[in-house]
Amino acid sequence: MKLVIATRNKNKYLELKEILKDLDCELIFAGDYPNLPEIEEDAETLLENASKKAVETAILLNLPCMADDTGFFVRSLNNEPGVSAARYAGENCSYEDNVNKLLLELKDKEDRYACFKTISILAHPIKGVIDYAVGEMCGNIISEKRGVSGFGYDPVFIPDGYDITYSEMPDTLKNQISHRAIAFQKLIPILRKFIKEEDLND
Ligand code: IMP
Repeated sequence: MKLVIATRNKNKYLELKEILKDLDCELIFAGDYPNLPEIEEDAETLLENASKKAVETAILLNLPCMADDTGFFVRSLNNEPGVSAARYAGENCSYEDNVNKLLLELKDKEDRYACFKTISILAHPIKGVIDYAVGEMCGNIISEKRGVSGFGYDPVFIPDGYDITYSEMPDTLKNQISHRAIAFQKLIPILRKFIKEEDLND
């Protein structure tokens, strides 16, 4: 059975492939379909954005499909950037622009607590959304970037229970403990049940 991972980011695909390696299915990279139209993430909630990505991609490819959407919620900034984490410093901004803006906004704040939240979701081309799961990781934002790996806000985020940033962690560790890893680990039983039922229907 084929299951599509609705991302064009090869690193994200490989990360999810590793998390989902024990599933009895073939995991397809949506980036291998160059003619697939870009799906706009313009909804107001993570769940709506993730559903839209998964359902539209499933219909376009006529295959069951997984997607995810992540937000970053900073307590002392009224939970900003939230769902707009990718565009915090403006349209077409870089990860570095976003981190610089965040550090500026937090310059005089004592409370630097923040949470990443990811929705992982499974959709079918005809049945629509099958089910979804939520993964969360909270921690503190430090005032200077540390580490070289990862992406986004990784260089300034120290997850609870650790004393290094996501960027200082080996990929293997981040991929075991991150908000996205938790969301997809929680999706595994849903995927197993779905694969079993689809196989029975064949
Ligand atoms: P997406 O929904 O995975 O595309 O994530 C939206 C935005 O959240 C990204 O552009 C990043 O700015 C931020 N983000 C998501 N996941 C991570 C992560 O694991 N580390 C740091 N930033 C992240």
